[in-house]
Amino acid sequence: MDALRSDLHIHTTFSDASCTVEETVRRAVDLRLDAIGITDHFWPSLGSKKGGLEVILERRALLGQLREEFPSLRILDGAEVDISADGSFAPVAGGLEQFDLVIGSIHFVCNSTQWASIMLRALKKNSFHILGHWDGYLSSYRPSDGAIVARALADHGVAVELSSRYPTQCEDFLELARDEGCLFSLGSDSHYVGAIGQLDDQRALVEAMDLPLLELSS
Ligand SMILES: [Zn+2]
Ligand SMILES: [Zn+2]
Repeated sequence: MDALRSDLHIHTTFSDASCTVEETVRRAVDLRLDAIGITDHFWPSLGSKKGGLEVILERRALLGQLREEFPSLRILDGAEVDISADGSFAPVAGGLEQFDLVIGSIHFVCNSTQWASIMLRALKKNSFHILGHWDGYLSSYRPSDGAIVARALADHGVAVELSSRYPTQCEDFLELARDEGCLFSLGSDSHYVGAIGQLDDQRALVEAMDLPLLELSS
């Protein structure tokens, strides 16, 4: 798998996006992507639809059919989960272990100090794969906080997402994270079909900064 040809953060009509899972997969195949992460929000995370495990199971069955129909595309069964102010994750029916891919994201504005303390607690309490749009809701950034978070992400093996919906404001942090040994992932955070795989700037950043990408074992 060529990780540069992946988009590991995609929403569908199972949460707050306008495109169905089928449309998403067909678009990814048209774009010749190697891997996609279908990472809906599930109740009660922000942007989710009300429902329990049956929603997750319905989507999983659909993903199974699409994997058979399009064997060249790696389709990951994922979730984007809210990180709370105390570092805990919003609950997900059936737990996080059921997913191939878990993105943890902060969805409220916080400053640099708050961000670092939330992240340290979140990493201690939860096991997840990717920190979504790391600075999407950050009102300030200090390199000393960045260094603490980068070290903790590397220690826990959590990748830093390069988002095209929330392009990185501070490339210094990416450098810190890379030097601490973090991996990175590409995510469009798409909510409509046209945004899927639109990651040219993020791919260019990977190449320019020599950022190692997360390789998900099959
Ligand atoms: Zn998000
Ligand atoms: Zn998202």
